Order: sequence, then C-alpha cells, then structure tokens
Amino acid sequence: MTALLSNILAAASESSAGAEVQNALGVVTSVFAAVMFILALKWMSAPATARRGNLVGEIGMAAAIIGALLGAHVVRYEWIVVGFILGTLIGAPMAIWMPMTAVPQRTALSHAFGALAAAVVGTAHYHLFFYAGNARPHPVTMAFLCLEVLLGSLTFTGSLMAAGKLQDLLPGRPMVYKGQNLINLTILGAAVICAGMLIFHPQIQWLFPVLLVLAALFGVLLILPIGGADMPTVIALLNSYAGLSASMMGFVLDNKLLIIAGALDGASGLILSIIMCRAMNRSFANVLFGAFGQVQTSVATTEKKTVRSATPDEAAQIMEAAQSVIVIPGYGMAVAQAQHKVRELYDQLSKRGIDVKFAIHPVAGRMPGHMNVLLAEAEIPYDRLVEMDQINGDFAQCDVALVIGANDVVNPAARHDKGSPIYGMPILDADRAKTVMAIKRTMNPGFAGIENELYYADNCLMLFGDAKAVVSGLAKELADGAANN
Ligand code: NAP
Repeated sequence: MTALLSNILAAASESSAGAEVQNALGVVTSVFAAVMFILALKWMSAPATARRGNLVGEIGMAAAIIGALLGAHVVRYEWIVVGFILGTLIGAPMAIWMPMTAVPQRTALSHAFGALAAAVVGTAHYHLFFYAGNARPHPVTMAFLCLEVLLGSLTFTGSLMAAGKLQDLLPGRPMVYKGQNLINLTILGAAVICAGMLIFHPQIQWLFPVLLVLAALFGVLLILPIGGADMPTVIALLNSYAGLSASMMGFVLDNKLLIIAGALDGASGLILSIIMCRAMNRSFANVLFGAFGQVQTSVATTEKKTVRSATPDEAAQIMEAAQSVIVIPGYGMAVAQAQHKVRELYDQLSKRGIDVKFAIHPVAGRMPGHMNVLLAEAEIPYDRLVEMDQINGDFAQCDVALVIGANDVVNPAARHDKGSPIYGMPILDADRAKTVMAIKRTMNPGFAGIENELYYADNCLMLFGDAKAVVSGLAKELADGAANN
C-alpha cells in the first residue's frame, strides 16, 4: 500500500506537469486547512457550535496532513506510516479511556509530544545543514530554528512535569527554595546566550546540545514552584509555547500552514491563560512565581460552627415549591459523573413549570469549559447554560441555588476576606438565593484548600453524599411525588 502510494506520487512528481499539479494541490489543501482551523476556533468558542467546531478542526487537520504530504515531495512513505500507526496506538487509547477529570494531564501530554516533535525536527534540520556540506545557514533561519528548539524543549519537559503533578506521580504542591527565580532566570539566560551565539556562529556545533539541555532543564524548574491549582493555567500557557514552537518550525521548513496553525495555537493558548487568570483574579507573574497552594493548609479555624443538613426527601419538598432553581455545577459533579442524573432532575423540575438555569463559572471543574462539556453530554439545552456575569444578578430572586460539587467558585470569602488565597476571584453569588442546597460528600475543602463559609450560612442546607446518588435521589423523590399526585 505504502509502496503503491510512493510510486503514484513519485510518478506524478517526475513529470513537470505532474509536479505542478502536485504543488497546486498542496497549496489548495493548505489554504483549505487554514480556513478550517480559523472556523474551528470560532465555532468552538460557544457551546451551541462547539461540536461543529471540533469536526471542522478534524477535517482541517486531515487536509493539513494530506497537503503536507503532497507539498513535501516525500520520497518514502514507510516511516510516515509507521509514525502514523504508532501515534494512533498512543493517542486513541488516551482519548477513549482517560476519564474526563484527567483531561488536563492528557492535554499536557499532547503538548509534550507536539513540543518534542518540534524540538526533534529542529535538531534534525540543524544537523542536515552540516551533512549537506554547505554549513552556513542564514542567521534568520538559525534564529527561528533556535527559538523552535528552545520553546520545544522547555515545553516538552515542562508539560511532562505538569502531567506528573496533575496525575499525582509527582508532589502537586509548589516546590520552592531560596534564590529559585534567580537560578531559573540564569538558566534561561544561558540558553538564550547559546541561541544567540548559534545564530551567528552555527558551526559551533557543541552549543546545540547545550541549548537543548538548558531549555529542557528550565522547563522542569519552571514547573517546580507551581501548585497543582495553577497547573491548568500553566498548561494553557505551555499550549501557547508549543504552538509558537510549531510556528517557528513553519518558518524553518518554509511551511506556511505550520506558521498559521502554530500562530493560532500560540495565540489561543495565551488568550485562554489570560481568561483563566482573570477568572481567578491572578496575574501571570503570580501564577508562574507565586507558589499558590502553599497557603492551603495554613487556613485553620478554631471557631465551632454548625451546618444544617437535609435528606433528598426534604430537599425535594422545598424544590417542589420553588419557581426558579439555579444549578451550580462544579468539580464534584465531574468526579461523580452525575451529569445524566442532573438531566433527570432538570426534566422533573421543568415538568412542574419550574424555571431551571445552570450557572457556569469560567473555572468550575478542572479545565476551561469542563461544565459545558459535561452538561452538553447530558443534552441539557444550551440556552439553559448561563455565564457568571449574566446570571449573578438573578440569584437574589432565585428560590433555590443547588450547588452540585462546586466549592471555591461559590465561596463568599472571595468577596470580602482579604487574607483568603481566593480573595478577589469572581464567584457565583449563590449565597444570595433564598435557599442554598450544597451537595458534597464531606466538609473537606475544594481545590484552593480553604473552608467555605457558605455551608455555615443560615440559608444553606447540606445534602451530604456522592453527587450522582444525591441528585438521583432528588429526581426520584420528585418523580414519586408526581406519580402520587
Ligand atoms: P472545588 O473547589 O475543587 O470543589 C469541588 C468539591 O466537590 C469539593 O469540595 C468536594 O467535596 C466535592 N466533590 C468531589 N467529589 C465529589 C463527589 N463524588 N460527589 C459530591 N461532591 C464531590 O471545585 P469548583 O468549585 O468547581 O472550583 C474549581 C477550582 O479549581 C477552583 O479553585 C479553580 O480556581 C480551580 N481551577 C480550575 C480550572 C479550570 O480551568 N476549571 C483551572 C485552574 C484551577 P467533598 O470531597 O467533600 O465531596
């Protein structure tokens, strides 16, 4: 099969007309792929069009691969087929079997592989200059190449570290030591000096592995002081670096599609990390150097406070009397995989004419869009999902705010407690509802590691238990109630 493919393409490129057709096809597929990528990004930014965006992105990627194969005048396809099969063997199980809650670490691994590919291609390209015998690459080409391997290497090790921390293979807490920032900056500075020298003196070949090692070391050290809670933001930033590295590779290989796709990836990763920082009221510097998470266990209270708990039966009775319910999903809903039971509850409440909306906090869960994806999977109508800024004004008129496995994103301390690590983070104003019901298993804190004063409020009822079991119980009580009437 691969021999046949090679023969057909080789025969086509042997004749000059065939080569022209092949080039033209390469250009057309590349332009098509670039348009698909732009549309994919546009459509993926709204829940209602996200599936279409995903599909269009996949079509664009297929076109990009075909375009690259046509345009690159590949001589032998065997290794490409081997790479394709290997990649599929690694990628497909990761996509199929890794749970939704592990998506951040899976994304980190994807970035690690992408960045490694860029660094390896850059390294191969550098050595090709010398094997070709005319070892005097242009300084501009060398500048792009050095940036490609610098970003590629540091993203590779940084992403592996991030995945290890998120998967609990490495300690998730920030690891800090005296003079850490100075050491990190010195290593980065040394790598930049190596790159600078290579740009003008590419023949000093021993500098190249030094550059690779320094960049890889910097990637490891960059992630050490970052706490688990900040890791998803850093992963978005690493995504941006991987994209920029691919874009640089495009300049080196003179592949315009790589330049475009890498730039899109780089820009979208950066924008995403800015959005996440804003949603958590953090600055980039604070995320990268702030060692967030160290404070987690230091917040202790000796004050004895009480909480009120209720059974699903009691909670269902209160809900039956409500006119409006706002559901606030959080990380616990993802852990419990309760989204389908939430759909059943939504159906029961809607049947009674109760207005049900879902309040979506931008950093609820463990990755951007986490709640949107889960609720879409359960086929909750998109128009019921309301962003934080739009829904916060509705809580004061709402009868029941049902918090399902969310914690930090509804913690009122963010509004007034200047000593809290989440102070200033915009939250969903669930505490302003007439009645709040919070589903969680224990009184344990959420990701920020701090107590939530909402649970002690007079208008709050705790529904202790696994989110799936409790929501299922609520839906059943409502269904039984409806059957008895
Ligand atoms: P959270 O603050 O982490 O709280 C999740 C709660 O879910 C926990 O209190 C836990 O309590 C409960 N829970 C866990 N498993 C459960 C189960 N099976 N059934 C019921 N409850 C369960 O979650 P969040 O309110 O969604 O906030 C997200 C946090 O992640 C924020 O601090 C945010 O800054 C951070 N973060 C998010 C992103 C992102 O992109 N989404 C990125 C970076 C950081 P129990 O253990 O008592 O059950």
